[in-house]
This record gives sequence, structure tokens and C-alpha cells, in this order.
Amino acid sequence: ETRIFSGVQPTGAIHIGNYFGAIEKWVSLQDEGNRTIYSIVDLHSITLPQDPFELRANILLMTATLIACGIDPKKSIIFQQSKVHQHTELFWVLSSLSTMARLSHLPQYKEKSANLKDVPLGLFIYPVLQAADILLYRSTHVPVGEDQEQHMQIAQTLARQFNNRFGLTFPSPQTIMAGDERNRIRSLREPGKKMSKSHQDAKSRIQLTDTPEQIVEKIKKSVTDHTSAVTYEPETRPGVSNLVLLHSLATGKTCEEICAEAKGMDTGRYKLEVADALIAHLKPIREEIERLQNSADFLQETLERGAERASFYAELTWRDVIDKVGLDIKH
Ligand code: ATP
Ligand code: MG
Repeated sequence: ETRIFSGVQPTGAIHIGNYFGAIEKWVSLQDEGNRTIYSIVDLHSITLPQDPFELRANILLMTATLIACGIDPKKSIIFQQSKVHQHTELFWVLSSLSTMARLSHLPQYKEKSANLKDVPLGLFIYPVLQAADILLYRSTHVPVGEDQEQHMQIAQTLARQFNNRFGLTFPSPQTIMAGDERNRIRSLREPGKKMSKSHQDAKSRIQLTDTPEQIVEKIKKSVTDHTSAVTYEPETRPGVSNLVLLHSLATGKTCEEICAEAKGMDTGRYKLEVADALIAHLKPIREEIERLQNSADFLQETLERGAERASFYAELTWRDVIDKVGLDIKH
């Protein structure tokens, strides 16, 4: 049986990197009839400071966004991580199987703490909570973007270590990626970096909630290079290639077709084409997000039902874990 799990942080509206790199895959895995569990990982998001008022709003916004993107609460479980207490409990058990040395090599916390004087412990042990999220549902496959590859290795190692020590409990979770550049949509301002929800420069990303005017503005200002031709060469021309890729993902055309059509066009002119394609593709999603945001009751009910359903699976695993670890004295 294939059991899919993935998560997204409620750190703001999702951007087209999250969408093309991960959420689209979440939807297709759901529609293929797999058991799909998708979590709004609020406990992960507080590893960096969040305004409580905004966090609450962002959890509902994320719920609306996932549904607008095609996650169907009747087919998938959508839930808020903090509502299923077994996540933090399993996290604690796994934290004792993790080592400081292993975690200190991971790039995400290095990047996210680069401008901080001191690293919050939560940011450092983030990947262990992520491993608990995945293993709690005995997940077999995890669709994520390229930035999560090393965190997936931590989850695999922890599954193996737990199994070796306490007996077979967890399958080794496999990473699902499209295997192409879409798994790393680049920042519009610094094409060497990935697009991120929490990056301070809002011009670095296009959010699914952006208006057509904002999309045009951001694409126009996106950083390319001094060559004016439109080509797809991600290694040497990351800026313009990122635009070609986004154009391709929004239209279903291949990057080659797009470059052929843009022959003779300079990048300035070409940017307007990309903006138009993104506006057309995102319009129905944006409208659906707006519609759903007006139904707070529906969103809250969806999350409550999701938490109940997730808790059922979580409790089964947790019972098994406390029994194996020796915490269950009624054995
Ligand atoms: P934050 O800056 O708060 O970490 P984020 O943009 O990295 O936000 P996450 O919620 O951490 O978003 O990740 C959600 C999913 O989106 C993960 O599977 C992640 O791998 C994927 N993802 C994030 N950024 C990109 C990107 N630029 N391209 C492709 N996939 C991405
Ligand atoms: Mg992230």
C-alpha cells in the first residue's frame, strides 16, 4: 500500500515554487487514489518568530489555498499539525536517536539562521520533528521540493535506526520529485537561491494570491542577465531559464517550444508574455482562495475533521511505539 504524507508551513501565502514544485504533485497523488495525508505544519513555522494574529490567519489561508489548488478534504486528510499531539511525542522519542553532529551539517538551518546571532534550538532540530510527521503515518512516499532532500535522508536514517533497535516499525519513506528543475523554482531577485515564502523581499516570489498587476510588476523586475535572447540554460542563465520554466509549467508547452516561439524577442518583451501566462493560469485558483476565505466555518470544520482522522492513524503508531520502547508498563 502506498501511503503519502507531506507538509507545508503556514508562513504566508504559497508561491509558485511551492505550487509547481510540490502541491501539484500532492493533487495528482490524491487523484490517483492513494491514501494522502497533508499537514499544515504550524509547529514547524514557530521555529522562527510568528505574529500570533498572522499565524492564525495564515493557517486558515493555507487551508483555503490547498483546497483551491485541488486538495479535496473528502479524498485527502488535511489537518493542522499541532492538533495531533502524537507528532511532538514521537519527535521526542526520535530526538534521542538523533545526534547533534548529524543535524549540524544541514543547510536549511544554516541558511535560515544566517542573520541571527544565535540559532533557536527548534530551528536546529526541525528535521527531527519532520521525520516524526512522516513516520507517524508510516508513510511510504513523501512529495517535496529539492530543498527537502537532506531532511528526507534524516527521516530515512531515523526509521532505520528505530527499526534496528526496536524491531520493524516504520517503512523507509521514499522521496517523490518530478526529477526536473521544477523542484527548485528560483527566487526572482536572486536566481541562485530558491523561491521562499518567508524571504523578506516579497518581490522575490509570486504568490497564488497576487493580483495581475503584482504579477506583472514582479516579473518585470525579475533579475535576468545581460544577454537579451530567450534561452533555456539553467546552469549558465538561471534567471531567464527560471522564467522559461515557469512559462512552460503555466502553459503545458515544453521549454524548447517556448524558446522557439520567443525567438527574436528580447527578455524585456518576453517577461510580459510570462506574466500573462502566469496570470491566466493562477486566476481561477486566486478566485477560489478568495471565495473559500469567506467561509471560515467551513475551513475550521475541515481542519477539525482532518485532525480527527489523522489522530486515528497517529494513535495506532504511537501505541506501537510506546510498547516497543518500553514506556507501556501494562505490557
Ligand atoms: P519557508 O521560507 O517558510 O521555509 P518555503 O517556501 O520553503 O517557506 P515550505 O512550507 O517550507 O515553503 O515548503 C513547502 C513545500 O514546498 C516543500 O515540499 C518544499 O520542498 C517545497 N518548496 C519550497 N520552496 C520551493 C521552491 N522554490 N521550488 C520548489 N519547491 C519548493
Ligand atoms: Mg521551507
